[in-house]
Amino acid sequence: MNSIDILKKTVPFVWRYKWLVALTLALTLISSAAAQVNAIVLNYAVDTISDLIQMGKRLSEGWNMLLMISMVLLVKEVLVVGTSFGQRYCGEKIKINISQDLSKAVIERILTYRLAFFTTAGNEPGRIQSRIDRGVDALARLVQNIFIDIVPLVLSAIMALTLMFLQNIWIGLTALLIIPVYFYVSFLQARRLSGRRHEMMRFRELKSQGIINILESIGVIKSFNREKIEGDKQLKLLTDIRMNMIQVRKTSFAYDSIKTFVEQIGVVLMIILSAYFVLEGEMQLGAIMYNIMLFANVTAPIRQMHRIYDDMSEAVIYAGGYFSIMDAAPKETEPSGTYRPKKIYGNLEMHHVDFTYPNGVKALHDVSLKISHGKVTALVGLSGAGKSTIINLLDKFYAPQTGSIMLDGVDLRQWDTAYLRDNIGLVLQKNHIFEGSIEDNILYGNPGATHEQVVEAAKKAFLYDQVMALPEGFKSNAVNLSGGQQQRVAIARMFIKDPAIIFLDEPTASLDAIATEQIKNSLDAIKKGRTVIMISHSLSQIIDADEIYALENGRVMEHGTHEECYANNGVYRSIFDASARSLNIDKIARTMASEGDQPK
Ligand code: ADP
Repeated sequence: MNSIDILKKTVPFVWRYKWLVALTLALTLISSAAAQVNAIVLNYAVDTISDLIQMGKRLSEGWNMLLMISMVLLVKEVLVVGTSFGQRYCGEKIKINISQDLSKAVIERILTYRLAFFTTAGNEPGRIQSRIDRGVDALARLVQNIFIDIVPLVLSAIMALTLMFLQNIWIGLTALLIIPVYFYVSFLQARRLSGRRHEMMRFRELKSQGIINILESIGVIKSFNREKIEGDKQLKLLTDIRMNMIQVRKTSFAYDSIKTFVEQIGVVLMIILSAYFVLEGEMQLGAIMYNIMLFANVTAPIRQMHRIYDDMSEAVIYAGGYFSIMDAAPKETEPSGTYRPKKIYGNLEMHHVDFTYPNGVKALHDVSLKISHGKVTALVGLSGAGKSTIINLLDKFYAPQTGSIMLDGVDLRQWDTAYLRDNIGLVLQKNHIFEGSIEDNILYGNPGATHEQVVEAAKKAFLYDQVMALPEGFKSNAVNLSGGQQQRVAIARMFIKDPAIIFLDEPTASLDAIATEQIKNSLDAIKKGRTVIMISHSLSQIIDADEIYALENGRVMEHGTHEECYANNGVYRSIFDASARSLNIDKIARTMASEGDQPK
């Protein structure tokens, strides 16, 4: 992406503030004209004073001129104060508004992206965050540069140059010739720095990601005493960043010195040329100061140019990162059909589905299965067999590469994605709890529900008594709840959503025995009349399932009832037997029998 592309893409964001932009430009025009006043006044003053001296007239004659000059300069300063305030204020306002619009646009955009976008290598949370933050920042700075720095300075330079040409063509030409030389040096500088800046962007993304990783896994790092290793990893990155920054500065300073040299040559040429014309009698004495001051107005933007150029080059790189997220839209937007039937029964079918994750891991091979309305279907398999992947596909988080998935006889692709998900309840092993109250977290399942419904859902999820024991009840912060309690919040969230289809991905894995039993009872209650797909390692839950699919390495190996699968003597049986052995069932049974106790 080059600067032109970036500017083109930025224009729509600026266009919304066209009146503010027009006002800024008008103010800019006034302040640029005012910037030339000092040179004109000084020119006039020097010439008048030298005339007065030559005519032998002194202070008595000069008062009028001094008074007039003072008045002109005072009026000009008042004008400059007013316009530069207005101009800076408007420029800053444009920048702030645009930066907010850019952030809003990218947030709205990524929320529409399919899950695959976020799990693609290079799109890790820290990297996306860094790309957005720096992109927005760079673009806002670009807009600010244009309206607060470039336009006023360039306008002022053009006016100064025009005045110089009007006075003397050679003076004008000399000033004009310095500019391309200066630009050429800036161009060389930018070219040398561009590679390093790209590298810097990558380093910064890695740094953000690295810090997020450390914070997320701080418990594990500490328990394994790996602070030093993690610190060293970051240190290596920081060293690379430091070396790169020093190189960037070194190159910048070298070129800056060359540019200052070019500029000073210009000043010297101005002095020599002006003095020459004064001595030749073509100009008056005041012209020397006049030309030097005008030349300062011409070089002012050029002096700023390298900073602006730096910002521009940075903007091109970081804005590139920003727009790469924005432009991913057509490819990454979540696909959706329009099918929204009045009632969902929940008959799901997969036909010869193959699925590979964006990182290239092939998770499902030729999977066909049938999940019937009103029944509980269990997916059984070792870790990594592809069970969660099936749920991901049924929830339309990902689309299969080959094969088809049908719900109530209609291809999932034709279903309105939002409508489909409104009718699916998903409870995972570890559910996300948002920062906020318990009530808000439960209401996430149905934002329109009443407090009574929240209480009802909490009761069903065996959460109510525990919530009431907290000093702030339902207003307590959900993030502080224990793992088991958070799980109940997630289950309450599903109760309040009341969906036709329920996916349970090891929902009781992080609960204690009592909680598991309670939750099992309440899940049993909600299962009635709905389609339930359950992933579980709990034998008691598997045995109760109406239909079982046993998976191995992304393939369906067996399916049927518990008895049928078990009789197959295959993967299901080996998992089942191993689970039973791990429970030490013989001893448990003996203990229960000797106590004369019966399971309730
Ligand atoms: P299970 O739920 O049976 O434990 P999964 O469906 O989670 O298994 O995983 C099946 C395979 O897909 C595994 O090899 C796993 O590493 C891979 N996998 C799971 N999720 C992702 C993902 N988001 N990106 C890439 N590979 C994944």
